[in-house]
Amino acid sequence: MFAEEEWNDGAQGPPRARPGPRGAPEGPGPPAPAAAGKRRRRRAAGDCAAEPGGPARKRPRERRRAEGQRPGGGASARPARPGPGERQGAAAGEAAAPGGGRSAALRARMEERLLGARFRYLNEQLYTCSSRDAARLFRADPDALRVYHRGFARQVGRWPEHPVRRIVRYLRRRPASLVVADFGCGDCELARSVRNKVHCFDLAPLSPRVTVCDMAEVPLPAESVDIAVFCLALMGTNLQEILEEANRVLKQGGTLLVAEVASRFEDIRAFLNAMAQLGFRSVSKDLSSAFFFLLEFAKTGPPHRRPAPGLRLRPCLYKRR
Ligand code: SAH
Repeated sequence: MFAEEEWNDGAQGPPRARPGPRGAPEGPGPPAPAAAGKRRRRRAAGDCAAEPGGPARKRPRERRRAEGQRPGGGASARPARPGPGERQGAAAGEAAAPGGGRSAALRARMEERLLGARFRYLNEQLYTCSSRDAARLFRADPDALRVYHRGFARQVGRWPEHPVRRIVRYLRRRPASLVVADFGCGDCELARSVRNKVHCFDLAPLSPRVTVCDMAEVPLPAESVDIAVFCLALMGTNLQEILEEANRVLKQGGTLLVAEVASRFEDIRAFLNAMAQLGFRSVSKDLSSAFFFLLEFAKTGPPHRRPAPGLRLRPCLYKRR
C-alpha cells in the first residue's frame, strides 16, 4: 500500500490537503473520478505536448526576451517558432554563438528543430502502432531510438517531477527482497535507484542492464516477480496484450504500478473496470497531479477471457509547430 502522503487514493482522502509533486500546479481537488477526469482533461490539455502547466502560454514572452538579447535578433533572424523541446536547443545554439558565430548558432537551432520533428514522428508511431510494430521500427532504424530517448528526456525534464522518482520512493518503503520487472525501463533509473532485483525491459539498450525485447513478450517465467512497473510506458495499441503479459509474470497478489500522462485517460473509472477484468484490483491511485496519474493494483488472478472495454488511453501526440 502506498504511504498516504506518497500516493494517496483520491477517493478515500482529502487530496486538497496533500500537495501534488513539488512545484506542480496545485491540484484542483478531490476526484469523484469521472468528474475529476473531465476537469483534469481540460486543465491538462496539452500535457502530451509536454507543456503541462502552461509553458505554451509563456513561450511568446520568453521568445521576445530571447530575441531582445540576441544581436540582430527578431523575426528575420529567427527561422521559425521553436517547437517543444527546442528552447534548450535554441539556448544551446545561442551559447555556441560566441565561438562559432551566428551561422553556427543558426545551424544548431535548425538541427534541434529537425530532431524535434523526428522525435514527434517517432513518438506518434509508438502510440499508434502495436508494440510489435514498434519493435520492428526500432530494429530497422537503431538511430531512431537515440532520437526518441533524447526527445523524451527533454520533455520529461520540464515536468516538476518525473514519476519514476515517485515509484522509487514507493519501492524504498517496501522490502528490498521484492523482485521487480520494469516494462519500458528507458535508461534504468528505477533499477539504479533501488536495492531490489529489477528486470529491465526496453526496445532500447540504453544501459547494459536492459534486456532488449518487446514488452508484450518478456523472457521471464510465469509468476516470477512481485512488482511490475509501467512508468510512462503503456504505449502500444495492444495494451491488453501488454498488461496480460504483466499479469503472467506477476505472482498472485503481486503489485502492478502504472504512471501515465493524465490527459491520456479518457475515463479513469472505465479504465479501472477494464483493469479488474484483466485481473488487477485497484489498491490506490493518485490523481492529484495535472501531469501524471499514479495507479497501484494488486493481481487478483489471471485475466478473464473476455476483451476489456474501457482499456483505452489516448495517444500522447505532440503538437506540430
Ligand atoms: N520508464 C522510463 C521510460 C519511459 S519512455 C521512464 O519513466 O523514464 C517509454 C519507454 O518505453 C521507452 O524507453 C521506449 O523505448 C519503451 N518502449 C516503447 N515501446 C516498447 C515496447 N514495445 N517494448 C519495450 N519497450 C518499449
